[in-house]
Amino acid sequence: MKIHLIALRVIANVLDQIEVALCVFDDQDQAVLWNNSFLTFFPEHAGHVYVGEHYRENLRRFYRTRLSPEEAPMLERYVEEGVARHLAQQQAFEFDHCGLRMRVASLELGSIGRIRVWRKTAPLESIERHRPSRSDSSIDAADVLENLADGALAVDQEDRALWANQRFHSLYGLPFSMNVQGWRFEALYEAAWQDADPSKEYREGLRVLRERRRFSGAPYELALPGRRWVRVLEQISTRADGQGYSTHVDITAFKRQQDALERLSLRLELLAITDALTGLSNRRRFDEALKSEWQRACRDNTSLSLVLIDVDNFKRINDAYGHPYGDEVLKALAQLLIQHADGPGRLIARYGGEEFAVLLPGAVLDEAQALAERLRVQVQAALSMLDHVSVTVTISCGLSCAAPSDLSDRSGRSDSLVEQADEALYRAKRAGRNRVVCAP
Ligand code: GH3
Ligand code: MG
Ligand code: MG
Repeated sequence: MKIHLIALRVIANVLDQIEVALCVFDDQDQAVLWNNSFLTFFPEHAGHVYVGEHYRENLRRFYRTRLSPEEAPMLERYVEEGVARHLAQQQAFEFDHCGLRMRVASLELGSIGRIRVWRKTAPLESIERHRPSRSDSSIDAADVLENLADGALAVDQEDRALWANQRFHSLYGLPFSMNVQGWRFEALYEAAWQDADPSKEYREGLRVLRERRRFSGAPYELALPGRRWVRVLEQISTRADGQGYSTHVDITAFKRQQDALERLSLRLELLAITDALTGLSNRRRFDEALKSEWQRACRDNTSLSLVLIDVDNFKRINDAYGHPYGDEVLKALAQLLIQHADGPGRLIARYGGEEFAVLLPGAVLDEAQALAERLRVQVQAALSMLDHVSVTVTISCGLSCAAPSDLSDRSGRSDSLVEQADEALYRAKRAGRNRVVCAP
């Protein structure tokens, strides 16, 4: 960061000499440095902006000087919209401030953060004066295309570029001086990536490009270096020359929001099926798994076993050492179950309170019994001391197993597996606890 800072300071001073304002933000959107022109263009920041100030504060001050009393209640909304614009900005735009018309550009600075630069354009009045009136101007299509906010590319019927606008060059990181004529779009895409590590998104982009001719007109998305994305929509001319035209829209901000939402949704899904105390699957997940494993066992003609586990005299542990200590016992027990009962296809769940369940697809009664017995011995041995307190934790286990012959008569009655294991558990308790009992 040190070298970057030195370089950025020099750039800030150089830009001052041509009256271009600059402010650099770090990856947390906090101000890192700015130049004198920044304070001249935005006098409201002089004496207030400081290193580490969030862009949001910066914007708040900016809006306070601009908003009329009627608009004041909108301040926070404008600020949030401004922050979103700042984070998503790929292209320059213009606005008026303190009687000046300004053009602002902003781009990400790799992992360092973001850079914003402003220059004065003509004052408002002169722009108004020079703006041609509708009657004395005709729209020049080439000019419109050149100044489009989205990239535009025209190709011949052999798919070789005829023309691209400036925005296309900037989107794909191609030098503005580059003449794209004769290049295939695939080659331009490869050129966009030539200085970057070829990511899996890039390889996917190349695959999409090879496929695209088969689905003319269907939009597709391409990854670009720097975690940017474009959406491309192509249209083949209906004229005999078969030229193709495509628009290229920057969808980086949208993709990032989409990624964030997907991550959030995955996390929520996981939370909905996880027990918060032990991290095991919860009762909801167990019920789902029981149903689906039952159906699978019926379909594949295999066994399905269930071990229900209940901590013996757990109330006494709570009473003697307190509820938080009881929680620690449950967590330690959950870890033991993971250690000794986990395996492919198996499900370990907190069934409720101090009860746990292990679902064993494919296991016959003997296997389930051996596992339950191992668990019982392990718990008694391992949970004799916890947090420097000597404690006696034992478990009782009730077992049930549906063999293929049972499954054929009882399809649709997965509850019976739980009922039988529960009955066996009850018998284990009655027979003195710390034991494994199988359903008949
Ligand atoms: P038994 O051997 O017959 O199973 O006796 P027990 O004391 O284990 O059974 P009982 O059903 O009487 O008591 C279960 C206790 O488990 C009561 C309840 O307060 C406690 N418990 C349930 N969930 C939790 C929890 O999340 N944390 C703690 N610390 N205790 C819990
Ligand atoms: Mg219980
Ligand atoms: Mg109990």
